[in-house]
Formats: sequence, C-alpha cells, structure tokens
Amino acid sequence: MLTLLDIVKRTTDFFAKHGIESARLNAELVIAHALGMNRMKIYLQFERPLTEKELESIRPLVKRRAQREPLAYVLGTAPFGDLTLRVDRRVLVPRPETEQLVEIVKDAFAATPPVRILDLGTGSGALALGLARAFPAARVVAVDASADALALAQDNAAACGLAGQVEFRASDWFAAIRADERFDLIISNPPYLTEAEWAEAQPEVRDHEPKPALVAADAGCADLLKIIAAAPRHLAPGGSLFLETGIDQHPRLLEAIADAGLIEGRSIQDWSERPRFVAAMLPR
Ligand code: GLN
Repeated sequence: MLTLLDIVKRTTDFFAKHGIESARLNAELVIAHALGMNRMKIYLQFERPLTEKELESIRPLVKRRAQREPLAYVLGTAPFGDLTLRVDRRVLVPRPETEQLVEIVKDAFAATPPVRILDLGTGSGALALGLARAFPAARVVAVDASADALALAQDNAAACGLAGQVEFRASDWFAAIRADERFDLIISNPPYLTEAEWAEAQPEVRDHEPKPALVAADAGCADLLKIIAAAPRHLAPGGSLFLETGIDQHPRLLEAIADAGLIEGRSIQDWSERPRFVAAMLPR
C-alpha cells in the first residue's frame, strides 16, 4: 500500500530527475491540488494509504509537470497580488515583476487616482484587474490581439467581481482605440524578449507559454517602440505611460520617449535591481 508520503517522495524524485527546481514543493502542490485539498492538509494525512482512484487523479498532473508544463498551468491558477487568476496555455503566467508594476503605479497615483486606464496586451488580465482593484473608481479598457487570451481575461474579470470596471476589446495595440479616446494611465507588459533570450529560457517558458506574448523583433524593442510612439495620441494631458521592459533596452526606449514628445522619461528598477520598467508623462 502506498501512503500519501510515499507518493510525495516518489513524485519529488521524479520531478528532480526532470530538472524541476523546488521539486518537493512542486510535488506537494500538484498532489494536494489533485486530491482537492490545500498543501497543509496533506501533512496531516501523510500516513494514509491512497486509493487507486486518488492515484489516478494524481498521475496525469504529475506527468504534465514532469514535461515541464508551468506549475500554474497544472494547478490552473496563479496568484497576482491579492487576486487569484485562472491561467492556461492561452496566456503567460503572471510574473513577480508585473505584480511590482502594479505597486509602482499605486504609489505614483496615490494622490490622484487615475480614472481612465488602458492596458495593452492584457493576457490573463493581470494588470487590468490588479489596477481595477487598486483604483475602484477607475474604468479600464483592456485589449489583446489574441481572442483566446481575451476570453480568459474576461472570465477572470467575472471571477474577481471586477467585470463592471473593465471593458475588453480585441485590438492590435491601439488599433481599436478611437482617435478621441484619452487615458490618465496607459500600461503594458508587451513582448520584449529577443529570439536568443527565448531560445535560452526554461522549458516552462519556451515550450509551453505563447511565444507571441514573449518575443519581439528588433532586439525585443519592436512592440515597446510602437507603444511609445503612439501613446501621446491617447494620453490625457498630464497622463502617464508605464511599461515593463527587458533589462538592456532603456537607453533606446528613453530616447524614443523623448522623441515622442513625452516628458519625465525615467528608468525604474525591479526588486533584483535590474532596470525593468520605464515611465513617462504627456505634458499638461
Ligand atoms: N519576463 C518574462 C520572461 O522573462 C517576459 C515577459 C514579456 O516578454 N513580457 O519570461
């Protein structure tokens, strides 16, 4: 008879053999999810033998994770700030850097909350929903070029109770934004990896996440530069642009920001002290 602890140990070894970091934690989370319990609860049942039915529910999830499918896809959800978002292969798994971007924007707008917000390339809806939660009086327009991503983002908005605050549109960057629409805040986490960075990424990223959401042409700058060039037409006077970026791109992006007529262009570091975000403002 195999106990829960036996299965946790075997799965840990299996994951480690497949190069998965924090193999024990991954094993506990996947097994707890398959059994419909939280991770702490499995500690109380380690000596319990598992039924064949329980083993059957665990196996396919263990197999998926061993194939280096991201943990969040296997569990079906990812935390983002105080929200829980559904995620699957239609969208990127939200990253800690993007959670940090919400915190940076909360601080920047602490005195005067933004009323109109535009999130470009919303994916799972993470930035749009995090900001809708942070600024309850704001109306958010969230766009994505992927209809699949938008469908998931819409589900997430409903599940978070934020559907009333967010309008979703299929749009290639600003394509579906009307000429007269202006925002206090335009935000984006666009694709910014180079092909070379993508080729060296972990299998979770390279083999499972949607490549169009990760990789951009022109040293990873192509989409960032498009957004910077068009942002002045859709920012309200005094409105701000905040972008998540790669860490080697800032000299070029800050130059493009100045060329676009935006002011106060600045580079902001992430928690690992890498230049990860740029911000700028349209003159009043
Ligand atoms: N930060 C992500 C990664 O390194 C890339 C996200 C993006 O391209 N927007 O995998």
